[in-house]
This record gives sequence, structure tokens and C-alpha cells, in this order.
Amino acid sequence: MYSSTIPKTIQKWLDANADKIDEVDVERDEWAGPDGLGDWSIWCWLKLGWKIEGYGGHLIHEASAKDFIAQTKLIVPCECEECVALPIKG
Ligand SMILES: [Zn+2]
Repeated sequence: MYSSTIPKTIQKWLDANADKIDEVDVERDEWAGPDGLGDWSIWCWLKLGWKIEGYGGHLIHEASAKDFIAQTKLIVPCECEECVALPIKG
């Protein structure tokens, strides 16, 4: 038993924050969280100009909606070399 679809909580966030998201991919794997929410994980690449605070990356990779939403709360504007090199913002 596994879910290959994006949990509603995550989909809702994705819909509301399309301006921050470059690409999303849900995959079935062995990366499941300790809370036993399933053998899937979600990869979410942020658009240039955004990053995960503290973590420093432009990518969210989580295996539960709860963890994913927790990461989205840490999204802040990014001014790294890669992001500021962007010719057109947004
Ligand atoms: Zn950046």
C-alpha cells in the first residue's frame, strides 16, 4: 500500500504558492518517515530567488505532509550567487 499522489495538504500549499515553485516530483521510495506515512517522498525545487532558511538549499525533500509544510514555513528570499544572477525576477 502506498500513495503515489500528492497529499491534499501539500497540493493546497503548492496551489497557493505557485510563484515560489519551479518543479515538483513525488516518488515512491524507501525514504519513508518514522511516523509511517508511506513509502513515498516529495521533491520540490524552489524558483530562483527563494531558499529554505537555515538549511540553505533550494530544494525541499520530505516524506510526509507534516514535514513538508514545516519546511515551507522556512522559505525566505534568497540572494545567493545563483539566484541574483537571474536576469528576470519572478
Ligand atoms: Zn539562491
